[in-house]
Amino acid sequence: MTFRGDISRSGGKARKGGGGRGMAVGGGIGGLVLVGLFLLLGGNPGQVQDMLGQGTDQGQIESGGNYDHCQTGEDANTHDDCRLYYTSFSVNEMWERVLPEQANLQYDEPGLEIFTNTTQSGCGMASASTGPFYCPSDQYAYFDLTFFDQMRQFGGENAPFAQMYIVAHEYGHHVQNLEGTLGLSDYNNPGAESNAVMIELQADCYAGIWASYADKGPDRLLEPITEEELDAALTTAGAVGDDNIQRRSGGEVNPESWTHGSSQQRKDSFLAGYNSGQMSSCDFLDRGVYQDT
Ligand SMILES: [Zn+2]
Repeated sequence: MTFRGDISRSGGKARKGGGGRGMAVGGGIGGLVLVGLFLLLGGNPGQVQDMLGQGTDQGQIESGGNYDHCQTGEDANTHDDCRLYYTSFSVNEMWERVLPEQANLQYDEPGLEIFTNTTQSGCGMASASTGPFYCPSDQYAYFDLTFFDQMRQFGGENAPFAQMYIVAHEYGHHVQNLEGTLGLSDYNNPGAESNAVMIELQADCYAGIWASYADKGPDRLLEPITEEELDAALTTAGAVGDDNIQRRSGGEVNPESWTHGSSQQRKDSFLAGYNSGQMSSCDFLDRGVYQDT
């Protein structure tokens, strides 16, 4: 999945963070990856902080960020940080149009922070091992660049798509925050039919809606998504499904502890959004408030 080389975007609520010397963490690379995936899948960074012990360095936030090297879609296809940055434009542009039309809500874009090493979020200290997450208290989405390298080792073959998909998924949580439903997710009460799972599957479905808009029309930011790329996308969704993670960490698959749904559920959810472009097809919470367009 690639950006059109000739597009250009700048501005937005993007900043860069990090630059701390890093924090002492235990567990080696495997532990880091697992913790990262825990957070990628919606875990609370505060809990990870408890698991890992207190960090010693505060991240520094570079206000406004420095995205001067992200001039065009070509840059977004080349540099990871530019790809995240441009994906945020693509996702924001979609929701600015779709959220008022389909949910009768105004869309305010979330903040975007791309960081390395450590940073301070409104939800607690985040480190390179934290992985991508959305923080409802400060309404920022946080992405650390090193996490995406670790993802490749975890079965996400299509790294560029994985990055874009994760951005769209985290922004989906922001939309849920605007809808007032994100708080329904209770990670202390997981399980295959839980609200926690439904909220995660809905974020996957919302990512699918983004993909369905991003590659169509004269203002599209993306080159048309190919069958092959879509397959890779779904593989990526599968690779971060809870059942896979449990298998890979050597444990039994235990639906009671699921918070994100099975790989198949995640694929189905993404496709429901991608094939319809309608929020109503992502209404896993049975709210019945969406209008099709
Ligand atoms: Zn999530």
